[in-house]
Amino acid sequence: MHTRILRFAPSPNGHLHLGHAYSALLNQDMTRELGGRFLLRIEDIDAARCRPEYEAAIYEDLHWLGITWEAEVRRQSGHFDDYQAALNKLETAGLIYPSFESRSEIAALVDTRDRQGGWPRDPDGVPLYPGNARKLSWAERERRRRAGDPFALRLAMDAASARAGALTWTESGTGPQGQSGLVAAAPQMWGDVVLGRKDVPSSYHLAVVVDDALQGVTDVVRGQDLFWSTGIHRLLQTLLGLPEPAYHHHKLILDAGGRKLSKATQATSLRELRAGGATAVDIRRMVGLGR
Ligand code: GLU
Repeated sequence: MHTRILRFAPSPNGHLHLGHAYSALLNQDMTRELGGRFLLRIEDIDAARCRPEYEAAIYEDLHWLGITWEAEVRRQSGHFDDYQAALNKLETAGLIYPSFESRSEIAALVDTRDRQGGWPRDPDGVPLYPGNARKLSWAERERRRRAGDPFALRLAMDAASARAGALTWTESGTGPQGQSGLVAAAPQMWGDVVLGRKDVPSSYHLAVVVDDALQGVTDVVRGQDLFWSTGIHRLLQTLLGLPEPAYHHHKLILDAGGRKLSKATQATSLRELRAGGATAVDIRRMVGLGR
C-alpha cells in the first residue's frame, strides 16, 4: 500500500476562521490515522485578492493551532508553467476556447436568455455562460487575441464530457444531500467553466487538479461547499490523464444564524478568538473535534 498524502490548501485572501481550523485539524487527524504525509499548499493565483500578510497569518494561525506540515510548501503563484502545460494539452485536444465578453456583457446575455424562458444556474447560483463565443470563427478569435483583447479560456463542457464519458468519485464524507460512497460526477451543471485568462494561465479548478496530481495527493479532505466542484475535477483529471484521488467532504462550520462563515466576519477569525483568550484546545472543542 502506498503512503497516503493529504493536504490543506487555503487561499491567502483573508484571515482563517473556524471553518478553516476544522478543515486543517480534520486533515491532520486523518493523516495521523492513515499514517500518511501532510502538505500545505497556498492557493494564491488570484493576485488581486491574495496578500503576503494573509499568507504570513496562515502560517502563524496554523502553528498556533498545533498543525504541522512538511517543510516544502507549494505556492501556486510560482507554478504557472505547470498550469499552462495543462491548458496547452486541453487546447490541442480542441476542448477549450476563448470568450471575449466582459462581465456586464455576459450579464446582459443571461438576462436575454432569462426573459426568453429561464437560463440555468450552477450550484453556487451563478448563471451558466451562455456559450456565444463557442461559435466564433478561428479567424475572429485570432484577430481579437492579436488585438490584445482580454479573454477567458473556457472548457467546452459538452464536448469534454462526451470525450470523458460517465465519471464517478469515491466519497468517504458526505455531500449536501447526504451523498456518499460512489458518487456520479455531473460536471455539466457548471457549464463552460473558466480554466484560464489572458493574464493568468489558470483558474482554481485547473490549479487544484494539476497540483493534487503533481504533489501525489491521494486523499482530498475539504469542505462540503466544494462537493459539486469535484465533478469538474474528475473531468479534468480524466482529460489530462491524471490519477484519481479519494474524496472526503466535511461539514461546514456555520455561524449562529446558520450561515456559512466568511473571511470578512471578524467574530470567528482565529486571530480574533486568540486575542479574546481562546486556546487551541478551545478551538478544537468549538468545531466539534474535542476529546
Ligand atoms: N483553496 C480552496 C479554499 O480555500 C480549497 C481548495 C481545495 O481544498 O480543493 O476554499
